[in-house]
Amino acid sequence: MESKGLYGKKYLDIQERKREIASPDENHVIVKVHACGVCGTDINFVKDWEEDFMPLGHEIAAEVIETGKNVKNVKAGDSVIVEDCTMCGVCRDCKSGHPEFCRNMYNMEDQPGMGQYLSVNFNCLNRFDGIDYVSASLTEPLAVSLTSVLNAEIPLGGSVIVLGPGPLGLMSAKVARLQGAGFVGITGLPGDNPREKARLDLAEKWGFDLVLETGKNDIEGEVKKIFPDGVDRVIVSSPPESLYDAFKIIHFGGIITFYGLHFGGKNVIRADINDMIFRKITLKPTFAEPAINFPVAINLLKEGLLPAGDIITHTFGFGEARETMEAVIEGSQPIVKAVMLPGK
Ligand SMILES: [Zn+2]
Ligand SMILES: [Zn+2]
Repeated sequence: MESKGLYGKKYLDIQERKREIASPDENHVIVKVHACGVCGTDINFVKDWEEDFMPLGHEIAAEVIETGKNVKNVKAGDSVIVEDCTMCGVCRDCKSGHPEFCRNMYNMEDQPGMGQYLSVNFNCLNRFDGIDYVSASLTEPLAVSLTSVLNAEIPLGGSVIVLGPGPLGLMSAKVARLQGAGFVGITGLPGDNPREKARLDLAEKWGFDLVLETGKNDIEGEVKKIFPDGVDRVIVSSPPESLYDAFKIIHFGGIITFYGLHFGGKNVIRADINDMIFRKITLKPTFAEPAINFPVAINLLKEGLLPAGDIITHTFGFGEARETMEAVIEGSQPIVKAVMLPGK
C-alpha cells in the first residue's frame, strides 16, 4: 500500500513524500496512524537541521491494520501506541534486568510518525483502550516526564522545582505532584508571546505552588524566600545552561535530574565540582530511550490523572503542517502541544 508522510529540514522545509509499504513479514505489523504529536525534536529538525530531510513524528497513536504470522500481542482493529525505541529483550543488559540500558533497539526504521501508515516490529506496540487517539498520542512525552520524576526519587511531601514549562516540564511537574511532592514550582520564559503565555496559564490552572518567569523574577531569591536552604529536587526540562539555576536552588544532598538538550556548543556548561562534592549533590540525566514507562503513562491518561486535553491545544492535518510548526517556533499562537492528524 502507498503511504504519505512528512519529512523536514532547515528552515521549515517540509515535504510530503509517498512511499510503498509492503505486506508485513512474519514479525511486522502495519498500523494506521490516527494521531502523532509534534515533539521538540521535530521542531529542532525543521528549525536547525541542515543535512538531509528527516522523517517527522514519533509520538504515535494508531490502529492495527494487518499482522505478520508470528504476531500474537495485537490483532487488526486494536488501538496501539507505537514505541519509537524498544528494548530488544535478548541482550546482556536486558537479560540482567536493565532494559533501560539496551542499545540494541527496535526502531521506526526511518518512517515518519506524521504519516498515514507504518510497518513496525510487533515488539514496538502497546495496546490501549478507553482513551481517544489524540489524547493517547501524549503517551511518549508523558513517559519521558514520568521517567524524570522517577529519576528524581522525590521524598514524600518534598519540594520540587521544574525548570521549563514546555509540555514535558508541565507534565513532570504534574506527575511530581502525583508522586507525592508537597510543593511543586515551575519556571519559564516570560509570557511575552502567546506560546509562553499559554504555558504559564496552564501552570496556573494546574495549581502549582509557584510559577516564576525567568528574567522578570529572581529565581534563586524567590525560591529561597520559601526554602532558605533550597528545594529537595530540581527537574530541568529547559536547556543545559538552566543547570546554573538548579545548582543555586538545590538543597544539601538533593538530586537534580535533567533532560533539556541543546546543540551547537550550548550543550557545554561549567560546573563547580567542589560544590557538588561538599553539598553531596546528585546529578542524574534522564534519557527515556528505550521506551520504559509507556504502560504506566497510558494508565495515567486512562485514569484522567494527567488531563491530556489541557496539554494538547491544537490539531492539524497535512495541509497545515508548515504553518503550525512555524507558529510553534515563533510563539505566535497559544500552542502548548500540537498533534498531527493524518486523516484531518
Ligand atoms: Zn518526543
Ligand atoms: Zn536489549
